[in-house]
Amino acid sequence: MLNQIDPQLTIELERFEKKAYSRGWKLITPSKEEIKLNFVNHGYVSARIDFDNFLFQLAKKKSDISFFEDHYIKSVERKDDLVLCTTQSGELFQTKLIIGCDGAHSVVKKLSSDHFVDHMHYSGAVRAYYKNVSSIEKDIIEIHLSKNFLPGYFWIFPVSDTISNVGFGMLSSDIIKRKIDLKKAIKEIIEEDETLSKRFLGAELLGEIKGFGLPLGGKKRKLSGDNFMLCGDAASLIDPLNGEGIGNAMLSGLKAGEIAIKAVKTSNFSSNFLSAYDNDINAKLLPELKQKLFFQKLFNRPWLINSLVYIGNRNKFLREWLGKKL
Ligand SMILES: Cc1cc2nc3c(=O)[nH]c(=O)nc-3n(C[C@H](O)[C@H](O)[C@H](O)COP(=O)(O)OP(=O)(O)OC[C@H]3O[C@@H](n4cnc5c(N)ncnc54)[C@H](O)[C@@H]3O)c2cc1C
Repeated sequence: MLNQIDPQLTIELERFEKKAYSRGWKLITPSKEEIKLNFVNHGYVSARIDFDNFLFQLAKKKSDISFFEDHYIKSVERKDDLVLCTTQSGELFQTKLIIGCDGAHSVVKKLSSDHFVDHMHYSGAVRAYYKNVSSIEKDIIEIHLSKNFLPGYFWIFPVSDTISNVGFGMLSSDIIKRKIDLKKAIKEIIEEDETLSKRFLGAELLGEIKGFGLPLGGKKRKLSGDNFMLCGDAASLIDPLNGEGIGNAMLSGLKAGEIAIKAVKTSNFSSNFLSAYDNDINAKLLPELKQKLFFQKLFNRPWLINSLVYIGNRNKFLREWLGKKL
């Protein structure tokens, strides 16, 4: 995505130091069958605080952007073809077009009639940083499926030689139905698994375990309206199978930017005009997100995952297919 936005960003990313090289991933099934799959291209793991700051500092070099840091938008309302934003400290901003890139708990999203959480299309996740988890392959990310916690997965992503991002995410409807406490679940998964418990024996938890919401894609939603467009998590564009949303957030930002230029040129900020953004995003992302949603429901069956991985380990074509589809 960085390359699509501006090839220079890829060069900058290579220079950026706070990242760990990743060549592929390992899936460990409920029956402890393992499969290792290479990424089509290599990847990087980086703590979001570092990666987001890397992007933010690059954006700050653009002379035609004004930044207002530490301005928390408390409310957003539409009045006479304008959007009025009030900050926590009481300042007022007004605009003809607002692009909501304000994440899972978006304030801008409230301009849309489609802003309610649908727990069938929403996940909860917790993440922690651990030091000295043993038997780490530092260029491989790990996904563990535990039969007691499906549909969901536990991950270990090495971010440096000694530190790993460890987390667990699950579909919200199941969290609610089964009254799961994610912070307890992450510890239970480690303690109840013979291999994981040994690997975490000498590991140290750094800081707190933190929880977040993930608005999942795969369902057609309204992404724009009079005077506004929504991007990334505010538009619920997270991959419902693997929980990845950074790429889609960037793609939607790029597309919203392109439509915004046209809207400014024609001075047209109507819902009708901005629906070109919905059409663009739905054409680019919805088929894949729907396919991932189908897989999410399918992989709720431990026997199926166990069998697929068992056969995949013995069949090159299935292995390659899994590598591409997951
Ligand atoms: C535990 C966890 C692990 C994940 N792991 C991955 C992964 O490995 N790979 C991947 O691709 N995706 C991952 N995701 C998903 C990914 O984090 C999101 O899809 C992505 O961050 C969406 O980007 P965004 O810009 O839409 O929202 P965000 O990254 O949430 O950014 C929103 C921004 O808006 C600001 N903001 C919010 N409200 C206001 C307000 N009222 N006023 C002013 N500013 C505001 C926030 O401070 C923030 O800077 C993970 C999510 C979770 C919860």
